[in-house]
Amino acid sequence: MSRNDDLFERARAVIPGGVNSPVRAFGSVGGTPRFYVSAAGPYVTDAEGRDYVDLVASWGPALVGHAHPEVIAAVVDAAGRGLSFGASTPAETELAEEIRRRVPIAQKIRLVSTGTEATMTAIRLARGATGRDLLVKFSGHYHGHSDGLLAQAGSGLATLALPGSAGVPAPIAAQTLVVPYNDEAALEAAFAEHGENIAAVITEAAGANMGVVPPASGFTTFLREITSRHGALLISDEVLTGFRSGASGYWGVLREAGEDVAPDLLTFGKVVGGGLPVAALAGRAEIMDLLAPLGPVYQAGTLSGNPVAVAAGLATLRLADESVYARIGHAADTVSAAASAALDEAGVPHVVQRAGTLFSIFFGAEVAGGVPDYETATRQDAAAYAAYFHAMLDAGVSLPPSAFEAWFLTAAHDDAALARILDALPGAARAAAA
Ligand code: PLP
Repeated sequence: MSRNDDLFERARAVIPGGVNSPVRAFGSVGGTPRFYVSAAGPYVTDAEGRDYVDLVASWGPALVGHAHPEVIAAVVDAAGRGLSFGASTPAETELAEEIRRRVPIAQKIRLVSTGTEATMTAIRLARGATGRDLLVKFSGHYHGHSDGLLAQAGSGLATLALPGSAGVPAPIAAQTLVVPYNDEAALEAAFAEHGENIAAVITEAAGANMGVVPPASGFTTFLREITSRHGALLISDEVLTGFRSGASGYWGVLREAGEDVAPDLLTFGKVVGGGLPVAALAGRAEIMDLLAPLGPVYQAGTLSGNPVAVAAGLATLRLADESVYARIGHAADTVSAAASAALDEAGVPHVVQRAGTLFSIFFGAEVAGGVPDYETATRQDAAAYAAYFHAMLDAGVSLPPSAFEAWFLTAAHDDAALARILDALPGAARAAAA
């Protein structure tokens, strides 16, 4: 038995499914998950000493590569001064200021520990601000694992083909209306029927948990218009896209494309913690000030704004200047173009979809015309992706173990790392064609 197999066996005896988050289990691609023991730059190393070029980047946070020396130094320095005080620290304000500098519509910011907490609190705040109960979300969008947000969610639920989660009481599920993404008519219909009771529409700034599915041109502007018209709030979930799809998140990408949309609330996570648990809820000051201690909407956390985690996030964002995004954009261009060419050469129908520096590839004739929504995403050829995934892994490249996820590049993907990816692509394309 290999060391990875052995570690998985032991893990399965004490941890449900052997993993602490479902998509890590290789459920949809088959095989044994790799157990990693270290990571540096663009590489991860497994328990057998094998290294891989990593295109998962901890599902987003590792924007500047793994174990960047300046991020590690900031963490070590912070840890040496104490792990947690349960009181305010200067660095929390600095991180909030850095977020607001990049996204000025984030007038006030509350730091939490996970994206799930950020979206859960955003919804509570929207309900508190409007006095309404209903929430609209899009099928295939993932906003974390709180009860009201698990209906037709992407990410692990899409990977496991689950419509929702057991354990969510029916009255709570009934508070969430699910509509197809990029479908203005469906949203108009939902508001026509329930408009007076809808507290908010929550959307991923660009869909990236069913593969990458960006908003159609004008769709986000439409979301702002219809929510304002009906007195509902617009919540833009940038947990995945924030400070990754571009320096100002997908909000900035849209602005550059001429869509200047100001959501009422935004959520951030992943990059904002640089690999440690930090996430944020942000938005218009008068709404944010409804949070306790100023207002009646309660939210709290023993480890919120943890000094070590905040140090990692702040160091990461301080490194993330325009040149970092240019490098990631170049790497995304290079890998997506080469992957597409190799798939063409092998005769595998596919489509590459982009949202700023994020991209993913959908396999199969049924999706090759483009994927605007979840229903279409579910028609991709997951078996072809599984074969592709394993061929890449065998060649030393670690892709997300699910067809429903974005590919994550980092500023540390240098020429040597890109060359290893490019070398692996033709063989993987042939495996997908078989
Ligand atoms: N929102 C989006 C868009 C996400 O991609 C995720 C996680 O993948 C979350 C929320 C939940 O974040 P966390 O896993 O930190 O709870």
